[in-house]
Parts: sequence; C-alpha cells; structure tokens
Amino acid sequence: MRMATVETLPPPDLTPPDIAPAATPVTAGPPADQAGGILTVDLAAIEHNWRLIGRRATPSECAAVVKADAYGCGLEQVAARLARAGCKTFFVADLEEARRLRAVAAESAIYVLNGLLPGTASAFAETRARPVIGSLVELAEWDAFCAAQAWRGGAALHVDTGMNRLGISANEAAALAPRIRAENHGITLLMSHLACADQPEHPLNDRQIRLFREVRLLYRGIPSSLAASSGVFLGNTTHCDMVRPGIALYGGNPTPGHSNPMRPAVRLDAHVLQVRHVGKSEAIGYGAVWTARHASRIAVIAVGYGDGYLRAASSTDEAPGADAIVAGKRCPIAGRISMDLAAVDITALPENAVRRGDLVTLIGDEITVDDLANKAGTISYEVLTNLSRRYHRVYRV
Ligand SMILES: *Cc1c(COP(=O)(O)O)cnc(C)c1O
Repeated sequence: MRMATVETLPPPDLTPPDIAPAATPVTAGPPADQAGGILTVDLAAIEHNWRLIGRRATPSECAAVVKADAYGCGLEQVAARLARAGCKTFFVADLEEARRLRAVAAESAIYVLNGLLPGTASAFAETRARPVIGSLVELAEWDAFCAAQAWRGGAALHVDTGMNRLGISANEAAALAPRIRAENHGITLLMSHLACADQPEHPLNDRQIRLFREVRLLYRGIPSSLAASSGVFLGNTTHCDMVRPGIALYGGNPTPGHSNPMRPAVRLDAHVLQVRHVGKSEAIGYGAVWTARHASRIAVIAVGYGDGYLRAASSTDEAPGADAIVAGKRCPIAGRISMDLAAVDITALPENAVRRGDLVTLIGDEITVDDLANKAGTISYEVLTNLSRRYHRVYRV
C-alpha cells in the first residue's frame, strides 16, 4: 500500500532555481484557461513606438508617460522595458505610481504630473520623485520643504498656456523667472501642455506654442517640454528639449483622421462560454434591445464592461456596436454588453466553426484600439485605461 502511494507522487522538480529572476514577470493574472479574457501586451512594439517617436523628435529627449498603469498595459513591465531601451525620464500621475516605478527604474527621473497634494513633499523626497508644480501655493510648499531639508531633488514648473487645467500663468512664470539665476533654484524642467494637439488646424495650438516660446526665453538654460503624442506630429516647433508621449507608445493613433504611424501593442481575446441558437424575433440580453432578424447563432463570451469592455460599444436594433473577429471573420456584438458577458452574432460563420472554449478577438487583427473606442463613442485612452486586471496577461518580449 505504502509503495503504491509513493509511486503516485509527482517526480521531484529538478529545474535549477532562478539565480537572477526576471525583474518583471511575463505573465500576470489568473491562468489563461481560467480567465474570461486574455490580454497580450507587446513590449517590443512599445519599445519600437518609443524609438519611432524619439527619431521623429530628434534631437529632443524622448521621455515616456506611464501614468494609469502605463495606460492599462502594466507600469512595471512597460517602464522596465523602456528604461532598458534607454529612456531616462518618466511621467506618472501620482506618488503611488512613482513608488511602483522607482522599484523597477532606480536611476530614472520620475515626474509626478499631478504635483503636490498638501503635506506630501517628504514622500516625494523618499521616492526621489519630482513634482510637476502647477500652482504658486504648491511651489511655496515645495520650496519650504526643500529649504528645511536641504533637498535638491528637482521639480518641473508647469506653465498654463491655454488649457486652464494645471499650471501657473505665463505672467506668474515671468515674475518668477529671475529665480533661475539663483544657484539652487530647483527647477529641472519647464513644461506646458497642448489642449488641441490632435486637431492640427485648431488655432489654440499656435497660441500655446507662441506663448510657451516667450516663457522659455525667460527660462533660458532650463530644459523645456511641450509635446505629448499628438504634439510631436505638429512639427518641430513643439519638440523643445523633451517630448512626453503616452498614447502613441501603446499603439493609439496620435494623428486622428490619418493612418496610424504606430505599431499596435495590445491584443484582447475572449473565451467563448457557449454557442446558442435563437429563433427569428427573439431578443438577446438586458433590455431586449437587439432582436434576431432570422434564426441566429450567438457566441456568448466571458468579457463585459466589468472587464473594461465598454458598455457603450453595445449593439441595438437601431445602432450597431463593436465587432469581434471570430474564426477569422468580423462578427457583430449582439445586444447590450453585460458586466461579465457579451454576445456575438456568429450566424454568418459555418456551423461548428466556433466551439465552447474558443477565443474570439476583441482588440487585434483588423480591430484597433481606436476602432473599438470609436464604436463606444470614446477615445483609445479610455479603452486602454479600463483594461481589466481580471484578464490573464501575456507580455510579449
Ligand atoms: C497624459 C499627459 C501626457 C501624455 O499624453 P498623450 O496624449 O497620451 O501622449 C503628456 N503630458 C501631460 C501633462 C499629460 O497629462
């Protein structure tokens, strides 16, 4: 009896222990066969996109914006990859993201776009993060901390040139300009942000570019930065000393209305839970807003708005929604997208072309992130930043 038990034990694991484990794992989330969706992030494509923007903006430095978990793609994986590729400066939104980034990018400059919340200056110093100072009260609080602690960590000064979100006014910036003659002025970057860079014809672009140029002249010797992804494509008047792309790194189109120069970096596949047959005039899903025009076959998939597959991409009798690629063919979503489920009309496919457990593609092949965003009446940024942690994630290196 004892012998038999011993024989059924699995063989011992003889694989050598990892001497130098990878800094960031290449998979994340639940096992692939158990997850409703499988998200594939192509880190090589992200690096390619970073290099492409860098060449476009030469000789300016190309930083990387990795806020909101690197636009949903995974902050650690993306930042570690780009740091290895030579990216020296990163932008995040808040301190928690700065801490996560610091853990994988020990030497990088990290700017925190939302700046200082009251009383957080010491936390910036502990992380060696630099606040992007957006108001005079923030500047006063940061200066007081730096003076008291003899902290020389640096900070960006954000000047508002027309967006009216964050930033001191151009007049305030002009009044502060004599400060840069002091030895320890502490300003390592002068920056502003374009409100309409994705609309090249918008008159605000020129106004912002001209106003920022005037401010830069007063801050000669301080590196400056104006362009995010779309701004880079407005031409070299926006490039200054550093560009700050975000969405373009992740494959979003920085030139809406024109073909996308970036390589897609995200793919999303969903598991089919079952294939159903519905009769003519039967409705599918919540609200019964989609009715079968003829006897139909429907694949129910295990991804919904709770996974960031936006409900606004639902399909009704009046308005078609998003598509999925099923067995190589584009098939429409049928009915409302639920929290954890959606339905795809696969009637156009041959019988038995789709089976339980198969994968259908929601982003990838001919469906770009921008396509899906359009179908949901939103932008690629919102699609990406909603990508769920419920997915099994694969990082292609
Ligand atoms: C988010 C952000 C960026 C990056 O913008 P993209 O359009 O994604 O390239 C750059 N600068 C600031 C201030 C931002 O808030």
